[in-house]
Amino acid sequence: MQSVQTSLQAAFETLPNAKLGIFDYLPVELVFLVLRNLDIRSFFHSRQINRRARVLSTGLYEYQLVSKHGLEGLRGLLRAGLAHCFTIVDLHRPLVTDKCSICGGFGGLLFLFTAERCCFHCLRSSAHYRVLPPSAFAKHAHISPSRLLRLSGPTLQTVPGTYNMMDTPARRPKHLILEEKATQMLLAAKAIDQDVIRNLRIRREQPEQRLMVATAYPCYRLENAKLERGVSCKGCQVRLEFLRGDSHGLARDRTFSTQGFLSHFSACVEAQHLWAESEEGTRPVKEPELTRRGGFLTRLGSDGLPR
Ligand SMILES: [Zn+2]
Ligand SMILES: [Zn+2]
Repeated sequence: MQSVQTSLQAAFETLPNAKLGIFDYLPVELVFLVLRNLDIRSFFHSRQINRRARVLSTGLYEYQLVSKHGLEGLRGLLRAGLAHCFTIVDLHRPLVTDKCSICGGFGGLLFLFTAERCCFHCLRSSAHYRVLPPSAFAKHAHISPSRLLRLSGPTLQTVPGTYNMMDTPARRPKHLILEEKATQMLLAAKAIDQDVIRNLRIRREQPEQRLMVATAYPCYRLENAKLERGVSCKGCQVRLEFLRGDSHGLARDRTFSTQGFLSHFSACVEAQHLWAESEEGTRPVKEPELTRRGGFLTRLGSDGLPR
């Protein structure tokens, strides 16, 4: 996103000479009120009207923070085809909190269907975040795909990516819908009944599909103007990989705020051991390949561990 950052964050240097018609008669507070209520797609369209519109939109407080620190959220919603469902304020709200909207713990992700902040564990386990391809929903609900799309709320367009730790890439449906929202809307339209909801609840999920509807989203702390992306624990990866503890990787997959990590550290024997062995991070020690690469994936074995 480097190449678009400047144009997103600044107005043109040349001063505007055109006006915005009747819009220019409004006090600037009211102009900002209008801009805050525009959906993101319309907001960007309005930004392209002329240099005056660009100056006004660039000056919106929430936009300044989102265009600087929340670019993953903007990109995620635009590429998913959901930008028309949210405002800049909807992206600003999760940007200035670090709390997962389900469990209240540190959440390093943005769930694109609802623009809610969430943590990796809740994204994978909460029924609130269940998604499925429209074709699978239509089959379970015994309704035609076109009727489903008309009645079931927004559809998310998936993008290519690495969604698991295996050698073979995950199968990626072109579109996904949010199960909770779709069932609510179809129930209200009397297009499905409770039996369909029961069938949907017991269906087998493709776990990777939930990862296709979220993006990393840092947290901007208003109290100290610092950005926090969250940290993971090397010690927990050691326990998973070398000691074969934590077989589901639940602890390894946790993300902490800096403060949260310090309290985790006091309870994580392996992290303390690494800290002591590395003489407080001043000399290299033997550590898992995954943490050595800063969490980036390489070719991995079928057990999900680096070879
Ligand atoms: Zn959570
Ligand atoms: Zn740990």
